[in-house]
Amino acid sequence: MTQTAEGFKVQFKRNRDARVLSGHPWVFSGEVLEKPPAEADGQIVSVYDARGRWVGQGYCNTQSNILVRILSRVRGEVIDRAWWQRRLAEAIDLRQEYVSGTDAYRLINAESDGVPGLVVDRYGDYLSIQVLALGIETRRDELVAILAELVGPKGIYERSDVPVRRLEGLEQRTGVVWGAEPPQDLVIHEGPYQLHVDITSGQKTGFFLDQRPNRLQVGELSKGKRVLNCFSYSGGFTMAAALGGASEVVSVDISADAVALGEANARLNGVEDRCKWVAANAFDFLREQEKAGELYDVVILDPPAFTKTKESIPGAVRGYKEINLRGIRLLKPGGLLVSASCSHHMDPTLFVNVIQEAATDSGKRLRMLQLAGAGMDHPTLPAASETNYLKCFYGTVH
Ligand code: SAH
Repeated sequence: MTQTAEGFKVQFKRNRDARVLSGHPWVFSGEVLEKPPAEADGQIVSVYDARGRWVGQGYCNTQSNILVRILSRVRGEVIDRAWWQRRLAEAIDLRQEYVSGTDAYRLINAESDGVPGLVVDRYGDYLSIQVLALGIETRRDELVAILAELVGPKGIYERSDVPVRRLEGLEQRTGVVWGAEPPQDLVIHEGPYQLHVDITSGQKTGFFLDQRPNRLQVGELSKGKRVLNCFSYSGGFTMAAALGGASEVVSVDISADAVALGEANARLNGVEDRCKWVAANAFDFLREQEKAGELYDVVILDPPAFTKTKESIPGAVRGYKEINLRGIRLLKPGGLLVSASCSHHMDPTLFVNVIQEAATDSGKRLRMLQLAGAGMDHPTLPAASETNYLKCFYGTVH
């Protein structure tokens, strides 16, 4: 192991550098000739390909399977406060240019914005952040200060209560990191509706911002329709459909807190008379609806990731197939299926095939209208397929 003027250095083993050379930001610990000592943890190290040519620099964590997360491929670039300020400003500028009609969106999307391990979501005047890598953890105060300068929020709250932090050797943590605590009655605006967002104890950083374009599109397709929204969380799709003119929206979520938030959102938007809320397991509810002979014009399925590992893909396939089969059976002829998966292990082809298998089993003819993804505030890296996790399928059945 050598420590040069450029700091510690890691070099790829033979034939292990192709993925990173083609743009992927992660160097795995098993791919290098020798791991740096623990004192390199959190520091910037230089990465060399198998032939000894400089590739880039990034932060190191010898405790993690992801040994280095590449920050820059420009040799000699100094990663100091000004560098971070430029990098964060670049991400923020992108949102100013490409995101409109909402005051809630992802401001920094980690690896995809060249800031590996840092997620920053904006909810009106407040930011909600997630620190997912040691390299960010060691710079957290500096990055928070830069964010405060660039955005001028009322407060920044940390939601680092995610199990993946363990893989980086980090404990879970939540709390105010700058300014004021987000109020309990925080409301955000998304297209024509408003939503209560609970930054301190809601799911994820407070809300599922990635589905925004799909919520808005469903709103446009809901006029006069009877809609079933499964895995509704706080009812984002429900508000979109109700304000889009749906005659009735039935929303189901297993979490009583989510359902309570949904009911509050319905009152906030003045659509409570057309919304029905059910706190139940969606698998059971779908089965019961079928038994009861209920039919819908639109069925939305937006479950949590059924698989977080490659090993559990077969189980996840069975889960997706079951809800899609049951969802399809509840559709009137010509009805619309809006079916999402947020697991990157379910690649788009596999996911579409599972939906087709469900249609085949139901004996119905399926036409796919669109395979959409997240909004432009969630850029992805073509070189890192795991950054492109969200799929939202639109199809119609007869
Ligand atoms: N569509 C939502 C996001 C859904 S996230 C939006 O646009 O904001 C997935 C939701 O599924 C979570 O709210 C979670 O509580 C719920 N959930 C998880 N397992 C469930 C199950 N078996 N039945 C019903 N809901 C479930």
